[in-house]
Amino acid sequence: MSIEQIFATRTERMKASEIRELLKLLDKPGILSFAGGIPDPALFPSDAFAAAMAEIMKTGSDTALQYSVSEGYLPLREWIAGQMADIGVPCTPDNILITSGSQQALDYLGKLFLSPGDTALVGWPTYMGALGAFNPYEPRYDQLSVNGNRAASDYASEAETTGGKVKFAYLSVDFANPTGETVDQRGREAVLDMAEELDCAVIEDAAYQALRYDGEDVPSILALELARKGDLEACRTIYSGSFSKTLSPGLRVGWVVAAKPVISQLVLMKQASDLHSATFNQMAVHRVADAHFDSHVSMLRTVYGRRREAMLAALEAHMPQGVQWTRPEGGMFVWMTLPAGMDGADLLSYALETYKLAFVPGRAFFADGSGGNTLRLSFSCANEAMIDDGMARLGAAIRETMI
Ligand code: PMP
Repeated sequence: MSIEQIFATRTERMKASEIRELLKLLDKPGILSFAGGIPDPALFPSDAFAAAMAEIMKTGSDTALQYSVSEGYLPLREWIAGQMADIGVPCTPDNILITSGSQQALDYLGKLFLSPGDTALVGWPTYMGALGAFNPYEPRYDQLSVNGNRAASDYASEAETTGGKVKFAYLSVDFANPTGETVDQRGREAVLDMAEELDCAVIEDAAYQALRYDGEDVPSILALELARKGDLEACRTIYSGSFSKTLSPGLRVGWVVAAKPVISQLVLMKQASDLHSATFNQMAVHRVADAHFDSHVSMLRTVYGRRREAMLAALEAHMPQGVQWTRPEGGMFVWMTLPAGMDGADLLSYALETYKLAFVPGRAFFADGSGGNTLRLSFSCANEAMIDDGMARLGAAIRETMI
């Protein structure tokens, strides 16, 4: 007998992530990588964390090393409530659950809403980690339109083909992973309108929201819905935030803001899955956020903003005709579309072999496996000279493999 034969059917949809496999390349010396969508470790607020952690161990180790409530460390939830009020979502700590990164929130939300055959509306492309989180709940996917050009009734009738309902629309709203694009206010309102018609939830993934380099902030979907309804308890939008891109991904601290019945159910899941996020980490994040969040994020915006500029300039300088790319106002990513007939995965093999260059081929971000001629470039970890060198190598690799 092979042990795999008795794995649950849900494992059939749990595949190794192309991104995780690719991240292994980062460890290889000599590869110029634009693959990992990760913060630059040189920019971590390490001194602030060192001081906060030492202080916590000196004065609060009884709390820090102990079990704590599943909802999360109250002072941290209060601090987040203050931030949420600043973006037009006044709420109480009871509307907030601390999660072990926003990835855990995506898993819980899949578990909360999706029965096998239910439909999740996602972008084509979308964050591949969201697909990975939802897949074990065996959903059907349909392409989310943010320009209102598909009728809600269309989505509903197609959802019935697998005996389910549309349960939520998931979208990464600001400087999305992988496209770098931001959904404008009209798009956000259109998603809300459609969710009202379909009577489904909206999952607003705001992982990159703080990292804007130019342009105007767009109100969050939850803020827009709250402005319509005047009561968070009446809102169907679930906001997912994270400290991973601003302070540290390794500490695994994220949060969810939603109406209380949603939070209560998520708290039960948290209890059943890991009891609570690491108390020590939550305390450290609270101390560092409270003292340094604004100044630290402002520094990140300056540094990442310059790298974004450098990448756009290098693309302009080095890409052959027929290649298109996005011009993000923030975040970490530029999304490239190659001429029809080219394949991002083939280009990666060639670029790695010939130019020691890495990026992420786009197909894995599409729930239907399309998008073969796309790729994602991350500018967060490279300095400006590396970016120019890398885009020159990419331009050469594209020219040499163009049909
Ligand atoms: N959402 C998006 C859009 C992301 O890009 C990521 C990280 N790559 C996550 C969620 C998960 O991040 P974390 O669990 O570290 O908060």
